[in-house]
Amino acid sequence: MSETFPAPVVLGTDVMGVPEGTDIELNVSIESISEGIWVSGTVHTLAVGECGRCLDEVRRDVDAAVQGLFALGEIESDEDGEEPEDVFEFDGETLDLEDVVRDAVVTSLPFTPLCSPDCPGLCDQCGARLVDDPDHTHEVIDPRWSALQSLTEQKES
Ligand SMILES: [Zn+2]
Ligand SMILES: [Zn+2]
Repeated sequence: MSETFPAPVVLGTDVMGVPEGTDIELNVSIESISEGIWVSGTVHTLAVGECGRCLDEVRRDVDAAVQGLFALGEIESDEDGEEPEDVFEFDGETLDLEDVVRDAVVTSLPFTPLCSPDCPGLCDQCGARLVDDPDHTHEVIDPRWSALQSLTEQKES
């Protein structure tokens, strides 16, 4: 099964996600097994986020593996009371692929997106983007010296 659909909601985290309405290309095979329906394949879409260093927009292709078991009936938690991974509820009629796609997309997103791996970030003095102005520096004048400096300036004039 191959289909393209717009993202129904924002898929992602606070720092990066697939905006609502973005095309999501899903290529999956659907197999009927005894426990339910096994879905596996790939998802391709585009995520947008913010560079963790310079706050620039970051766009990243998302190619993620999709897999999940749509189990008929109740999903049983394991001994720790946690729901097993990659298992989704299936009512026997419609496969709700949204959850499985969201899981696949979210786990493939970086925790700290960067516009480039060596993004220099922002100047901690003035917030300027160092990528635009890599040599920029600030003359830090100790306040004790600035009085002295204005004295010299007066002498010169
Ligand atoms: Zn950046
Ligand atoms: Zn600066």
